[in-house]
Amino acid sequence: MTAVATRPPLAEIRSVSARAFARSFRRHWLGMTAAAFLLLLLVACVAAPLIAPYTPEAEDLTIPLAGPSLHHLLGTDQLGEDVLSRLLYGGVISLEGIGEALGVAIVLGVPLGLLSAYRGRALDAVLGRVADLGLAIPAIVILLMVFALPVGGETAAMVALGFIYAPSLYRIVRGAALPLREAAYVTNARMSGVSTPLVLWRHVLPGVAGPLAVNLSLTAGVTLTVQTGLNYLGLGVSPPAPSWGGMISDAQSVLNQQPWLLVPTGLTVALTILSFVLLGDAVRDSLAEAWSLETSSVRPARAIARVPGPRTVQTAEPDALLSLRGVSISDRSGRPLTTDVSFDVQAGEAVGIVGESGCGKTLTTLAVQGLLPPGTRLAAGQCWFGGEQRSSGHGKRTPGIGYVAQDPAVSLDPCFTVGFTIAEVVRAQGHLPRSAVRAQVLELMASVRIAAPAEVARLYPHQLSGGLAQRAQIAMALASEPRLLVADEPTTALDVTIQAEILDLLRALRAERNMALLLITHDWGVVADTCDRAVVMYAGQVVEQGTVSQLVSAPLHPYTRALLQANPQRGVPGSKLLAIPGTVPAPGSWAPGCRFAPRCSLATDDCRAGDVTLTALAEGRATRCIHYSDLIAEVSR
Ligand code: SF4
Repeated sequence: MTAVATRPPLAEIRSVSARAFARSFRRHWLGMTAAAFLLLLLVACVAAPLIAPYTPEAEDLTIPLAGPSLHHLLGTDQLGEDVLSRLLYGGVISLEGIGEALGVAIVLGVPLGLLSAYRGRALDAVLGRVADLGLAIPAIVILLMVFALPVGGETAAMVALGFIYAPSLYRIVRGAALPLREAAYVTNARMSGVSTPLVLWRHVLPGVAGPLAVNLSLTAGVTLTVQTGLNYLGLGVSPPAPSWGGMISDAQSVLNQQPWLLVPTGLTVALTILSFVLLGDAVRDSLAEAWSLETSSVRPARAIARVPGPRTVQTAEPDALLSLRGVSISDRSGRPLTTDVSFDVQAGEAVGIVGESGCGKTLTTLAVQGLLPPGTRLAAGQCWFGGEQRSSGHGKRTPGIGYVAQDPAVSLDPCFTVGFTIAEVVRAQGHLPRSAVRAQVLELMASVRIAAPAEVARLYPHQLSGGLAQRAQIAMALASEPRLLVADEPTTALDVTIQAEILDLLRALRAERNMALLLITHDWGVVADTCDRAVVMYAGQVVEQGTVSQLVSAPLHPYTRALLQANPQRGVPGSKLLAIPGTVPAPGSWAPGCRFAPRCSLATDDCRAGDVTLTALAEGRATRCIHYSDLIAEVSR
């Protein structure tokens, strides 16, 4: 089994609009409830002087320890003070304290964490040691020292708490920002002369927002717990001033006489802490979903087309290893990402999926594997693999399928050696003694032509060259003895010589293991060298399929023809290479009728009149073009 990152690639998560975030966040009802509770609490506490029925220290010794009544909605304490009023005024102190502690931690921890990860070297080493020192000092000692100072008090304690939190926040931000430092878009910004503060603010900070949000929400809950505990012990806020901790202490001293007194404050503290935790989780999930779903140029609602129902035959090809019929994938809002995708892969066959970025190639193969990313779903259609129907699209990984990603560097865990990572996959296939696992790991590494596998197994991913890392990734994919290997642009990140070696390896493995290959690529040279058949995708649809020789010699869709004409390997020295005008439209903003019409030189009014269906032709060919006969005529001329 090969792990597949479900998070969006780094290049796609650098920005997320407030609208996309809000759209995702609204779907998390627990987060929404928590946010509403915290907002209500904040407003109520801030408005305490206006809405509290009594001043917090107003005593009425004639009604001590009274239960809830119309005059005192939450009852009174030992001195006859109104519990609701004290709860509201005490909330101001608690929320202020949380704000002070988090403010100090953010001001210190976030910029230093970003800077440390970005600059590295001496600054990173120095800040790391200082953070270690800060983490080693017991928080309780610092807090007690602060209270012992003449200027010590609630505010000083909360500021000190902020200093105590700062090192752990620094560590979290630094850890999350480290991988972003090497991201292509950060390098581009740096190379383009963007200042360091701007790079950190605009390109790195959004990438750490998820872990930061979760940590801050947890820290807010911990701060409230610590603050309540200190006040409970009589530190910080001195009676008769109200504080939640002091109120709990008072309630505890009369627990036998009036147990109710503990309920309002205890419940408020517990719900506030729970709300912080739920809010953090919802913010993190919403950020991830918004990043994965946001498409910069997509218009909302009105431009979103409905997912058309599948129009192709809904039965699997009986002999096919893999069959897709009318597969339509959409995001949670119903925006279609791919529509009506149908094709087959026979056992041992190599099929290429060709098209520009954003055409739905990767999403289709993720659906095949049952690994659709969060926020997407199989809206219509069916997948069959090995005669079994797979219909969920995600949640259950399809066994018997191996996966090789484009960039091996992000597919191998940097914390473990290559041998350990492959062994983990081997162990997942069934219980084996340790020596057998090791032997199988070495055998797998040898099968992908890694010389000296025992030495390479001891290396970490960062110590491997691109070609070696890709071989290790293929070895991982082979550990599950797949009948189908899905390779998503497996050579794009490699240099030309290594590309040829990896393609040669894939061809050999396919022949040795009678393994089918589903190869995603935009390179016709790779398709011609490796595949028997090809499926061309454009704007979420299959627009043409056939054998590679048919497609290359006589394409029957203008998009296939344009892709071939734009292939540098087919260029004629001295003549201009043709480019396809325009860009692939964003999902859901497809043109009416034929989706390729805005870029097609053969487009007529008929092409825009209505949806164009995939026309099945002889010898397994199919095209989604109503003027394909013109292309046949052109070829035969
Ligand atoms: S249907 Fe029309 S617009 Fe679409 S590819 Fe064919 S000729 Fe071009």
